[in-house]
Amino acid sequence: MNECLFCRIAGGDIPAETVYENAQVLAFRDISPQAKSHVLIIPKQHLEGLNDLAGAKDDMLADLLRAAHEVAKVLQIDQTGYRLVSNCGKDAKQSVLHLHFHMLGGEALSERMV
Ligand code: AMP
Repeated sequence: MNECLFCRIAGGDIPAETVYENAQVLAFRDISPQAKSHVLIIPKQHLEGLNDLAGAKDDMLADLLRAAHEVAKVLQIDQTGYRLVSNCGKDAKQSVLHLHFHMLGGEALSERMV
């Protein structure tokens, strides 16, 4: 059995609130939202994180970023604004080792680090 949490969500073994899906990408609401709108955007292909893009299917990253724009439209935050973040590794406190982008928005966000 696949032990990766996000692979199991993508496979339908673990429920999640899907907001957008296409053949390569799934977007679902974060279980512990850090903003009014907080969605995780993942590739269905398993990669641990940004350091593993060499193993990605062609155009995966472009697909993910295009999907992010579609997610922002579904959430109706494409015009008001949003933040897209991918934590990679220990210092960034990545807790799920399946590549994902956090989309945060729906309100004025807290202070930026960058
Ligand atoms: P990160 O810490 O950047 O790896 O982000 C992992 C995110 O996954 C966290 O924001 C968690 O709240 C979220 N998360 C963990 N388990 C679930 C789940 N079952 N459904 C939705 N989001 C989850």
